[in-house]
This record gives sequence, C-alpha cells and structure tokens, in this order.
Amino acid sequence: MSLHIIHYPHPTLRHVSKPLKRVDAELKHWIDQMFELMYEHEGVGLAANQVDLPYRVFVCNPEGDPANKEAEFVFINPVIKRGSGQHEKEEGCLSIPGVYAPVVRKEKIVVQAYNLAGEEISGELDGLFARIVQHETDHLDGRLFIDRLTPTQLADVSGELEEFEIDFNSKRAVGELPSDERIAARLAELERLRT
Ligand code: ZN
Repeated sequence: MSLHIIHYPHPTLRHVSKPLKRVDAELKHWIDQMFELMYEHEGVGLAANQVDLPYRVFVCNPEGDPANKEAEFVFINPVIKRGSGQHEKEEGCLSIPGVYAPVVRKEKIVVQAYNLAGEEISGELDGLFARIVQHETDHLDGRLFIDRLTPTQLADVSGELEEFEIDFNSKRAVGELPSDERIAARLAELERLRT
C-alpha cells in the first residue's frame, strides 16, 4: 500500500487514534513513507491520520532538512504530560495546504512517548519542536489547527476551507473518494491489527 497525504475535510483527520500495541515491518515501512512524504511536501511533521492510518504515531524533523537524520524523530503513543507559558505563531498543515493562521500553543511542554526501538523517550521541549509536538498530537486526537483559531481568525480562512470542501465533495461525487462508511470500516480493520 502506497501512502498519500489526505486533505481537509477527509473524515480520517477527525479520527481519534488508539495507542499502538505493536510495531511490525509493515508499519515501519509506512513510517519510512511518512518521512518521505513529509520532506516531499516540505513539512516538519506528519501524523498517521494524515496518511489515512488510525495509529497513534507521528514523525517529525524540526530542522526540516532530509540530510539531517539526527533531527528525525518518531513519536509513538505520545502523551503531553504538562505545559507552561503561551506562545503565538503562524502555523500551516500539510492536510490544509496553503492555509496559514496564528495559533496559540504552550511555550514549553513535557512529553513522553516511545521510539521505533520501543524505548521510552521523554523530556521538556520548547520553541518550534514543542509546537510541532502539540500540532501533531492534536492530529492523533482528531483535531486540526483551524479548531484552535478564534472566530475572527477562522472567518479569515473560511473561503479557503470552503474550496477544500468543494474539492472533497466533487472527488467523492465521481467516486475518487470512498464513503464515510467504507472509510470507517477500513480504519476499524487497521485498528484491529495493531491497537
Ligand atoms: Zn497538520
């Protein structure tokens, strides 16, 4: 199965992912593909729901440089333990390409997760790295950055969001996208295998 990035308002972006219980060769292969897609689209993070997978995992590289492998991280079953401070900065999302808006996030967070080797990773993050982890963990809870905008900010991007909705509906009308029921059935089957 070759992965691709799905766009707003695809229902998988609203899926709340359950924790992973196993990481097998197929999932590792998909995680490799997630890194490739993230770099191809010049992103710094990509969550599993964004490639139509119902798993609690995201990849990121706060440096955004494919050559910098030391900055690559896989977060499995991430939990944000606590956060402090507030910081506003413009965000975008590979599932809503071209839409940008300022989002308030915690300035510092303490996160706990597992890496691909099954080792626990935990620590305090700040700056862009903290923002990425909050944005991607939101994805795993079925939440998009546009959900965190004020009504005025949301109104500013509503025209662009409507374009995505029109595109989604027209693709579905010609059978390029499955029904909600088929999407839900596929996610349930994938969940059964690993969560
Ligand atoms: Zn995103």
